[in-house]
Amino acid sequence: MRRELDPGRCQRTIFEDRGFNYQCTKKPVIERDGKLYCKIHDPEYIKEKQVKWRAMFDKEQAEREKHWVLVNARSQAIKGLTLEELKQVTPALIRKALEANQ
Ligand SMILES: [Zn+2]
Repeated sequence: MRRELDPGRCQRTIFEDRGFNYQCTKKPVIERDGKLYCKIHDPEYIKEKQVKWRAMFDKEQAEREKHWVLVNARSQAIKGLTLEELKQVTPALIRKALEANQ
């Protein structure tokens, strides 16, 4: 059963996790395809936010991958060293080993 939407309010239906769905209570500020929406439920605004979020996620993912490549390269560089040798390892030595393996 579908209830009539109040034409004086944003046309977006809010879906609550407990099953109580209701019409957004905000005043509409924009019309898209014949429907009125408030600022936060404007489909174009939502799409724009998703594109920005995706770009930010992709950038962070690339940084995470770069980090793990470096961590892996560092662990490869010290592989096979004894505990006594590991105590001698300095960031400068690791850098030197990484440069030698590139
Ligand atoms: Zn709304």
